[in-house]
Amino acid sequence: MASGLHHDRGTALLALPAALLVWPWLGWTGVAAAALGFLVGGLWLSPDLDTHSRPTARWGPLAGLWWPYRRLLRHRSLLSHCPVLGTAGRLAYLSFALLGLAALLHPLGGPEPTLLWSQALRIWQRHQPLLVAAVAGVEASGWLHLIQDGDPMPRLPRLLRRRRRQRRSR
Ligand SMILES: [Zn+2]
Repeated sequence: MASGLHHDRGTALLALPAALLVWPWLGWTGVAAAALGFLVGGLWLSPDLDTHSRPTARWGPLAGLWWPYRRLLRHRSLLSHCPVLGTAGRLAYLSFALLGLAALLHPLGGPEPTLLWSQALRIWQRHQPLLVAAVAGVEASGWLHLIQDGDPMPRLPRLLRRRRRQRRSR
C-alpha cells in the first residue's frame, strides 16, 4: 500500500498528462476542468477518506463531515476503494453531508438547502461538459490511487469472502 506522500506526488505528477486526454473534445478549458478534478480527487476526495489520512486532514475544520463515512466503512472497503463506485459514493455522500450542514445552519441565517440544490442543478445543466470532465478527473485520480495501492481490486465484503473460501475448500 502506498503512503499518503506517495499518493500526493502521483496526483501532482499525473494531473496534467491525464487531463490532456479530454483536449480533442473540450479544448484547454476542458483540460483545466479535468486537471482540477484530478487534483481535488487525489488531494481532497481520495479513497483514503475511509481512514485517518492526509486527505482527511486537508478538510481542516470541515474534517468532521467525513467522520460518519470513516465510521461506516472499513479502510479499503468495497465502497471506498472500488472504481466508479468509490467516487460516486464519495460525491453522493459529500452532497448529502453539505445539504445536511446547510439544513443545520439555515436557522442561523444560512441559505435554504432546497435553494442550494436547485442552484447546483442549474450549474450542472449550464456547464455539463466541463463538469463531466471534472468528475472524470476525480475518477481518474481514484484509479491512480488504487493502482498505487498495488491491489486495484478492493477487499470483498466479509460475507462474500467467507462464501468464496467455503467454495474453495469444497
Ligand atoms: Zn487507499
